[in-house]
Amino acid sequence: MANTSRIYLDWNATAPLLPCVRDALLHAFDLSGNPSSVHKEGRAARMAVESARRNVANLVGAQASHVVFTSGATEAANLVLTPDYKMGRSALRIGKLYVSAIEHPAVREGGRFSKDNVTEVPVTSDGVLDLDALKKLLEDHDKTTGLPMVAVMLVNNETGIVQPVAEAARLVHAAGGLMVVDAVQAAGRLPIDIQALDADFLFVSSHKIGGPKGVGALVTRGEAMMPKALIHGGGQEKGHRSGTENTTAIIGFGAAAAFVLDGLVERNAAIATLRERLETGMRKAAVDVIIHGAEVERVANTTFFTLPSLKAETGQIAFDIEGIALSAGSACSSGKVGESHVLTAMGKDPKLGGLRISLGVSTSEAEIDQALAAFEKIASRRKPAGQAA
Ligand code: PLP
Repeated sequence: MANTSRIYLDWNATAPLLPCVRDALLHAFDLSGNPSSVHKEGRAARMAVESARRNVANLVGAQASHVVFTSGATEAANLVLTPDYKMGRSALRIGKLYVSAIEHPAVREGGRFSKDNVTEVPVTSDGVLDLDALKKLLEDHDKTTGLPMVAVMLVNNETGIVQPVAEAARLVHAAGGLMVVDAVQAAGRLPIDIQALDADFLFVSSHKIGGPKGVGALVTRGEAMMPKALIHGGGQEKGHRSGTENTTAIIGFGAAAAFVLDGLVERNAAIATLRERLETGMRKAAVDVIIHGAEVERVANTTFFTLPSLKAETGQIAFDIEGIALSAGSACSSGKVGESHVLTAMGKDPKLGGLRISLGVSTSEAEIDQALAAFEKIASRRKPAGQAA
């Protein structure tokens, strides 16, 4: 039986399925055809996939024909981060990949580049991409090895800090390079326009916006320049991603994309008010709380904080016992909490770690007040500095 007393404040890890997506999924289960089949059943499935493609394209200001469905953002990252490109019929070589030091592991691992050809670009102590450092790296790039490719996230998953992607893209294009944007945590939280970002490629993930898990998309600015396929076979998705489309999940993704785009600004303004209530209450309850990135632009839903003398892992368990699901930095697949590479990149001591509260479309004022009550309780029973639990 569902435990109704739980409060879910970990929307950056994954968003609960939206009710309208559940309805769309139930309908999609009855579409029995293969979208590649020419008969009526196949055509019905194809129509539904193409409608979802339009919704995902609208979410990021792109053309529907420029959306390639994948099994998620990690696969999209591995598809796009490769030294091997095609420009029409000619091969195009990318010499080096530059990634910001705060990227998600899906990008930080460098996709299909060899480790030697992946260079990190630092961030400032505010957690914002260091544009001067990027400029210098691009000036020093050896073009005889191939073009530079730069990957920067639009919004960081731990801090919620918005990155200067359009400014970075200008530098990248001036250097003749390609710009890749991880828009996973920005989708549904900021208006996104692939043209305005000046991105060549971006990718999004369904489960972060209330759609089903295991589906995402690589979105391209045009079609002239495409990465070498990662998955070969029947030539689906115009040969960029073979395998029968996960019709059900794609339909759910499309429904989620349409939902979050409609009323995006108003919904996020309401979430910002809740986050303000939360952070004001936290500062009142613990004057020493450090809210990372509070001085720079963040999306409305994320609070990443450190409570001195409280290890993030201990804090996470304490909140869980109080009925509140939040996260200690970003959870890795083992469920273990590693040191936050984001705090390290910002030059902060990663030992205590950080706790992340992330809000979503159904978060209520009452839930925030309950989370604050738990925060007060947990903050007040901390041991004095130097005796961290
Ligand atoms: N990029 C960011 C910023 C993320 O937060 C995540 C998920 O945690 C991913 C990429 C990977 O997305 P997916 O779970 O769809 O592979």
